[in-house]
Amino acid sequence: MKCSGDIDVREVEELSINIDPIQAGGRLTPEAMKACIAYGDGYSVCDYCLKPFRLDYIKKPPIAEFHRDLAEWLHMDEVRVVPGARRGFQAVASTLVEKGDPVMLTALSHYTEFVSVEQSGGIPREIPTDEHNRVTADAAGMRIEEVMREFGRPPSLLFVEHVDYQFGNIHEVKEIARVAHSYDVPVLLNGAYSVGIMEVDGSALGVDFVVGSGHKSMAAPAPSGLLAATSERAESVFRTTKVKGDLTERTFGIKEVELMGCTLMGVTIVGMMASFPAVQERVKHFDREIAHSRLITDALLSIEGTEVQSEYPRRHSLTRIDTRGSFDKVAETHKKRGFFLQSELKKRGITGVIPGSTRVWKYNTYGLTDAQAQHVADAFREIAAENGLNVT
Ligand SMILES: *Cc1c(COP(=O)(O)O)cnc(C)c1O
Repeated sequence: MKCSGDIDVREVEELSINIDPIQAGGRLTPEAMKACIAYGDGYSVCDYCLKPFRLDYIKKPPIAEFHRDLAEWLHMDEVRVVPGARRGFQAVASTLVEKGDPVMLTALSHYTEFVSVEQSGGIPREIPTDEHNRVTADAAGMRIEEVMREFGRPPSLLFVEHVDYQFGNIHEVKEIARVAHSYDVPVLLNGAYSVGIMEVDGSALGVDFVVGSGHKSMAAPAPSGLLAATSERAESVFRTTKVKGDLTERTFGIKEVELMGCTLMGVTIVGMMASFPAVQERVKHFDREIAHSRLITDALLSIEGTEVQSEYPRRHSLTRIDTRGSFDKVAETHKKRGFFLQSELKKRGITGVIPGSTRVWKYNTYGLTDAQAQHVADAFREIAAENGLNVT
């Protein structure tokens, strides 16, 4: 079946169990799919956009209410929706970072965090990880001290990943924020892998900004995301336009500069809103996701030669595994080489592992049912046994 011309329908989620690291938390709910059809037209949410003409004031559909609910849910004062977490980083960096300013990132930061610093002319300095691939408050303090010696002033912003994309490890954000604040450094929590997946309380974590990704972790269409701020920081990052046309003397009301006025104007915002009740509910059941993550990780670890590179026992659904001592040994002599694993998984209805990878790779068990999780665990053990690996 085709959408049109050469565009096939996508049926990955209908036909397979998908453990792709970046796709698991962004799978749409049926409610979001309905929203996509109903609000697919361009500026569809603008039917009832009345004075003062801004997205977050629209009452029908209830976008204004959604903004209030989001802020309350995250325990932050103000929220705006943005086209992806990266646009949240960009808004904050563009507000707080001047050319030549040092900016604190971590050894596990995402490229989009780096690029937002680059756009603002900031100079990245990374907090190293410890031997467990975790970012600690001690390391943050040490690195801020080094920056002070090098630049004669503290960094103008510190990024910290709640859960990093490389290992799916949970970092000590609260302690890191405390250290950063003792140097008056504002803290941005990168919740791309946590907001919409697990409960996030920005106030308890003591951060200035929370950034989330709709399409990565909130069952929303791309590109979508959110930027939340404390009231103190909201004033600057959500500042309104002051510019004026020299001939027409036009001014532009309360459009926010960093957001270019309005952001998500159709399917993205309504999709995010339609999934929100389900998302609010699912974060309360993160323990179920952890159980699935542990079941599958333990099945892999029961295959001789396999090692887990993420923190263990698992506390998140995203995991980095090292199968150089197991599946990669099979690949050396298998007629399909490194592709045997993906091909064996496919036979069992499982997709999302990068084709050809049998060395170090990642999987995300988020959103599986109990039966699906058991099936994935059994599949890995079966594939190992059938290929002569020892399974204990
Ligand atoms: C995916 C990801 C991002 C980028 O998110 P977008 O919403 O696609 O901009 C940023 N940081 C981390 C840690 C991520 O995993």
